[in-house]
Amino acid sequence: MVKGFRPETLKEALKLRAQYDCLPIAGGTDLMVQKARGFALKPDFRKPLLFIGHLPELQRLEVINRQIHIGAGVILTDLLNSETIPDIFKEILALMASPPSRNLASIGGNICNASPAGDTLPYLYAMDAQVVLQSTDGERIIPIAGFITGPKQTDLKNSELLTKIIIPQTEFDINMYRKIGQRKGMSLTKAAFLGMANVADGKIQDIRIAFGSVAQTVVRSGKIEQSIVGKSTKDIVKNISEISRQYAALIRPIDDARSSAAYRKKVSLRLLEEFFVSNLAKVSNLRKAQSKGDIE
Ligand SMILES: Cc1cc2nc3c(=O)[nH]c(=O)nc-3n(C[C@H](O)[C@H](O)[C@H](O)COP(=O)(O)OP(=O)(O)OC[C@H]3O[C@@H](n4cnc5c(N)ncnc54)[C@H](O)[C@@H]3O)c2cc1C
Repeated sequence: MVKGFRPETLKEALKLRAQYDCLPIAGGTDLMVQKARGFALKPDFRKPLLFIGHLPELQRLEVINRQIHIGAGVILTDLLNSETIPDIFKEILALMASPPSRNLASIGGNICNASPAGDTLPYLYAMDAQVVLQSTDGERIIPIAGFITGPKQTDLKNSELLTKIIIPQTEFDINMYRKIGQRKGMSLTKAAFLGMANVADGKIQDIRIAFGSVAQTVVRSGKIEQSIVGKSTKDIVKNISEISRQYAALIRPIDDARSSAAYRKKVSLRLLEEFFVSNLAKVSNLRKAQSKGDIE
């Protein structure tokens, strides 16, 4: 028999976490696959389970001081149905798994699973999301990029639970997300690209670029983004090969059952180009024309 605890409150859950070497389980959509042993066989859980998916404290989704606080137990369906969640994040969520899986899968589980192909991660990295980690000793708040330390590795302590994710309540004017997979639905990610930017007077005011599934963790470079800010979209399009070269040095995919490293790298750089050439430049030109009154 698999042993487990089903606390009623977060306080109780944290006490159990401090007392026993146990494995948190929210929706179980990652864990049940990872620990499966075969048809009709019970999964291979070596530690008692700590059920947390039902805890009311982990279900909250609220805006506090222009920051979106998402409980770690909030399921993907509820994020999709929320008016608080930015459209670009919803676009990403809608491409994850299937409706039945999204009814179980939690955002906290996607983060703590720390898969290089975790689909919420490029957005959370791009937004400089912070994670709230709680134990009976208190809480610490750290950037997601510091929390995920490698493939399937996090900085989560044995006594802690991820309780909340905090993202700024900010939306960008220009957004492009592409998930490359085998098919449209129920597809595991071969490569993912997210580009978001604000452009004013033909110049880039803010830009966020993140690649998923093409390195040990999400690829995002503050240094490259900063070098782009303030430049005109025209100059950026002219310099696209230099920007592409800089990202190429950071994109280090692997060959696996889903795809080849060469394909992953090539398609990621193509998507980067598409973002600058088709998306950013086009929208920027449109805005200029609108401000000149050439078009409505
Ligand atoms: C059919 C199928 C399709 C899928 N498609 C996609 C997809 O398209 N994109 C994608 O990114 N993923 C996909 N997944 C993976 C999975 O559904 C997601 O990663 C999901 O968000 C995991 O959430 P969960 O609540 O089920 O996590 P669980 O399986 O419960 O937990 C996952 C890990 O996180 C830990 N954990 C969970 N919550 C906490 C917490 N609050 N504090 C500390 N540790 C915690 C657990 O101990 C475990 O190590 C798919 C899975 C399946 C089975």
